[in-house]
Amino acid sequence: MPRLYLASNNAHKATELTALLATLLPPWEVQLARDLAPGITWDEVGDSFLANARIKAEALRAHTGACVLADDSGLVVDVLGGAPGVHSSRYAGVDGDDLANNAKLAAAIKSYAEHDLSARFVCTLYFIDESGQGHEFSGVLEGQLTHSARGRHGFGYDPLFVPKLSDPAWQGRTLAEIPASVKNQISHRALAFAALEQWLAKR
Ligand code: IMP
Repeated sequence: MPRLYLASNNAHKATELTALLATLLPPWEVQLARDLAPGITWDEVGDSFLANARIKAEALRAHTGACVLADDSGLVVDVLGGAPGVHSSRYAGVDGDDLANNAKLAAAIKSYAEHDLSARFVCTLYFIDESGQGHEFSGVLEGQLTHSARGRHGFGYDPLFVPKLSDPAWQGRTLAEIPASVKNQISHRALAFAALEQWLAKR
């Protein structure tokens, strides 16, 4: 069974990826960074999602000749010049503080009309193959921010983000009002992982 190491210690991400890659023949085994290199850390100092995914993948690759995969994602808001961008998880200062990040974003967009608040979630993957060559995959979910945060699903900026979707059942809803089973089919992460999956199936 081919194996890849995921440059993350988020077990939820590994489970999601395992399920996705289980449909490939042969299926892939997904292991977390800590299984290979306990205590491994990396500084996400890149100025793009690709740069950060690459930093993580290369740090992990230094420990193995096996395949490694890293992802980086975030929210890009046009009127804010692309912010929070690569700083999405620590926009308000503390890593992963969703409440504070959303409060800061809500304040930053307050003076704009909603129709001017185009934004997108981006996910970039960096896969290093057995020979050490890197491959990039991206997924984008376009949408618009709202001033009225709503919904209880998801995480991060989901309550402020209304994705542009063709299915009328979900139009006008924030990502936090959309169940995980639907989000997992349309999200930036799902699109990037699907691109990786298709590429792995073909190679
Ligand atoms: P990471 O790539 O998992 O480190 O995520 C970076 C940050 O981007 C997260 O902490 C969230 O603030 C934001 N983000 C990424 N994906 C999503 C999403 O699907 N919904 C809401 N926020 C997200």
